[in-house]
Amino acid sequence: MPTMKAAQVHEDLSLNVNDVERRSPGSGEALVRLHAAGVCATDLHVLEGMIQPDEYPMTVGHEAAGVVVEVGDGSTVSVGDRVAVYNKIFCGACEQCLVGRQNICDNEPGQFGFNLDGGYAEYISAPARNLVALPDNVDFGTASVLACAGMTAVHAARLSNMSVGDTAVVNGIGGVGSMILQVAVLAGARVLAVADTEDKLEMAKSYGASGGVVVPDAAGYDDLPDRIRELTEGRGTDLFFELVGTTKTMLAGLRSLAKHGRFVSTGYTGESLEVHPIEFILPETVWVSTVAATVRDLADAIRLAAGGHISVPVAATYPLDGAADALENLRQRRVLGRQILTLA
Ligand SMILES: [Zn+2]
Ligand SMILES: [Zn+2]
Repeated sequence: MPTMKAAQVHEDLSLNVNDVERRSPGSGEALVRLHAAGVCATDLHVLEGMIQPDEYPMTVGHEAAGVVVEVGDGSTVSVGDRVAVYNKIFCGACEQCLVGRQNICDNEPGQFGFNLDGGYAEYISAPARNLVALPDNVDFGTASVLACAGMTAVHAARLSNMSVGDTAVVNGIGGVGSMILQVAVLAGARVLAVADTEDKLEMAKSYGASGGVVVPDAAGYDDLPDRIRELTEGRGTDLFFELVGTTKTMLAGLRSLAKHGRFVSTGYTGESLEVHPIEFILPETVWVSTVAATVRDLADAIRLAAGGHISVPVAATYPLDGAADALENLRQRRVLGRQILTLA
């Protein structure tokens, strides 16, 4: 039985690199030699036990890219293809899949790195229809991040119905936030960033944000609505992209909106939001929910990167053995951009 190295989470929520079985591709599948995997805040939810796999131990990671090295019967990709891995398994036949919403497939059997073995590994066996071709000028590290943060940004921007002249606040300048603000600039919005450090605000400006505020801690969100109104001639923002998702940040976001503003809910924590409906009703506030992205969103994110319109801020690269360190940096909020595991 061939084996490979993989970083796995165990039932006691410890993480370590093990030699594990390398599964051969079945019918319609392909085996991908992974070159890069992105380290995402969602991986912390797995390590905290908030997201639970079908079975422990499970290989962590849902952002991966590499090269096809073996194909099963009926596979639609070829050996040698450079690909990004779309991390949600989908049936391709249900009502949602038929209109292209693979992210909310009715028969969703799982998601790499959430409940199925993921991308912190040397190889992954995936359905060929989950593999999206990469142009030569999109490197594997960038591609891995596009397969989560990048596609999520495209999806959230699309569902938000953002248009030219809108003001968009992006709350949380991490992996997804730094991609959303680039997509929002492309869509013609004026973008304001809410960052927890001056460095992140500067990075946001380098990606096209016209300004923003630094909110270093939870208490700082109390006066965010006032600060956003100061920056928007008193009217508030048309869009609030929420990537943090605590009770305080969500309330601050809702209260920062202009009339008929759209609250775009993407990031979450264990915390909930309790608010009287009148706060939504009087200003006709719209709540937009987004979860991950469709295959088309991933293909579009790759096209935008290939054309030089969006780029991934790479904070640092680590070998597979450095996964725990990278995750700890993320937990300590010390990361500027996205950390990437280099796997080949
Ligand atoms: Zn992710
Ligand atoms: Zn389906």
